[in-house]
Amino acid sequence: MDANDRIRELLEGTAERAIRYLEGLSSRSVAPSPEAVAALNSLHGPMPDGPSSPESVLAALDTLGSPATMAMAGPRFFGFVVGGSLPAALAANWLAGAWDQNSALANVTPGTALLEQIALEWLIELFGLPPDSAGAFVTGATMANFCGLAAARHAVLARAGWNVEADGLFGAPPITVIVSDEAHPSVTKALGLLGMGRNRVVRVPVDEQGRMRGEALPPIAGPTIVCMQAGNVNTGAFDPLASVCDAAHEAGAWVHVDGAFGIWAAAVDGLRELTHGIARADSWATDAHKWLNVPYDSGLAIVRDRDALKAAMAVSAEYLPSESEGRNPSDFTPEFSRRARGVEIWAALQSLGRSGVADLIERTCRHARRFAQGFRAAGYSILNDVVLNQVLVSFGDARTTERVIEEIQADGTTWCGRTHWQGHTAMRISVSCWATEESDVEKSLEAMLRIAGR
Ligand SMILES: *Cc1c(COP(=O)(O)O)cnc(C)c1O
Repeated sequence: MDANDRIRELLEGTAERAIRYLEGLSSRSVAPSPEAVAALNSLHGPMPDGPSSPESVLAALDTLGSPATMAMAGPRFFGFVVGGSLPAALAANWLAGAWDQNSALANVTPGTALLEQIALEWLIELFGLPPDSAGAFVTGATMANFCGLAAARHAVLARAGWNVEADGLFGAPPITVIVSDEAHPSVTKALGLLGMGRNRVVRVPVDEQGRMRGEALPPIAGPTIVCMQAGNVNTGAFDPLASVCDAAHEAGAWVHVDGAFGIWAAAVDGLRELTHGIARADSWATDAHKWLNVPYDSGLAIVRDRDALKAAMAVSAEYLPSESEGRNPSDFTPEFSRRARGVEIWAALQSLGRSGVADLIERTCRHARRFAQGFRAAGYSILNDVVLNQVLVSFGDARTTERVIEEIQADGTTWCGRTHWQGHTAMRISVSCWATEESDVEKSLEAMLRIAGR
C-alpha cells in the first residue's frame, strides 16, 4: 500500500466508526455507564515511548472512547441548550478538517475567509441586525460576549478621550457596567477578563421570568455599558430590549445583548416579536453550536461599529497584509491562528435555508410546549412561561426533585440537569437538537413520569 492508500483506509474506516456511533445514538443510554467511563481509564498510563499505527489509535478511541461519551448529539439529550450536529454541518467539519486552513488572513486562505463572510452576512440578515455590522467567529458565546464587550469598552472610552488598547485601564475614566440580576455568568466572566471586574457592576432586579425590570434601570451618566439578555438560560425569557436600548442610548451608553440562543427566535415569524428592538443594540453575542446545530466550538459576535471591534482586536505587523486585500478574519477575533469554523455555519445555513432554520427553531419550541403540557397533565408544576425551548419542572420539594433528576439520568432514556429558579429546585429541559422527533419527546416524557411516579 502506498501512503495515499493507507490514508484512504484510515479515513474510510473512521467514517464507518463515526456512522456506527451516530446510528447507535437513539438506542443507547444517553449517559455513559460508569463501567464505560472506567474502561476508558485503561488509557490513563504513561505516554507511549514509541509510535502506534493510526488504525490502532482510532480503534482505541472508538472502542473505549465512544461508549464513554454523553449522547449529546442524540435526540433525547435535553441537559443544556446545546444541539447536535446537522448532517451537512458535521460533514463540512470533516472536509474543513482535511483542508486544515489557518483561517486568519484573507489573502492566505481566501476560500475560508469568503465562506465566513457569506455566513456572517446571512446571519446578520436572518437576525435583522444592521447590515454593515462586523463579526467575529469565535469559540462560543462566552468569547462572543468578550468580543462585544471589548468593542464596547473601546468605544465608550474613546468617546471620553481614552485609548484603552494603547494605554490600558489604569488611570482611565471609570466605566459603569449595568447588568441584570440574571445576566449569564459568561457575561460577568468576560467583564473580569476585560479588567472591568466581575463584581464591579450595577445590578438591575428582574421579574418572575428573569427579565430585567426596565423601570429599575439606574440613571446613566459617563462611559456606560448596558448588558441585556435575549433568552434566559432557565426560562427562555427576553429582557425588554426596545425600551432599555432607547433609554440607554439617550444617555450615550453602549448596549450589548447576550443572545446565545434567544436571538435565533428572530428567524421565526411566530417568535420574532420576542426579539423586538434587538437591532437597536450595539453588539450581540450568539452561538452556532447551540440552536443552529453545528459542531463545537462555534460562537459569533456581531458589532454595529466595525471600527470599534477592529480597534479592540486587530494587530498590525510588517509581514501581515491589510484589510484592503479582503476581510481578514483575525482583525475581528482574539485569536490569530484558528480553524475555519465559519465553514460549518455556512454549510448549516445552506442546507437548511431560511425555512429550514425557522422550522428547526419552531419545532424544538413545540417539543418544549409538549413537555410542559405532559407534566401539567400529570399534576406537576411548570415554573416558567414556556415562551421558547426551555421548561422548568418541579416534582415537589427540593429533595424529591433532586432524587427524580438523579434517577432520570441513571435510567438512560433521556438526560436533563438540575437548576435553582427563584428559590425552587427544578429540572431544566432544553430542546435544541435537530434530530429530536415527537416520538423522542413521548418516550422521554413517559420515562420521566414513570420515574417521578415511583
Ligand atoms: C450558553 C450560553 C452562554 C455561554 O455560551 P458558550 O458557548 O458556552 O460559551 C452565554 N449566555 C447564554 C445566555 C447562554 O445560554
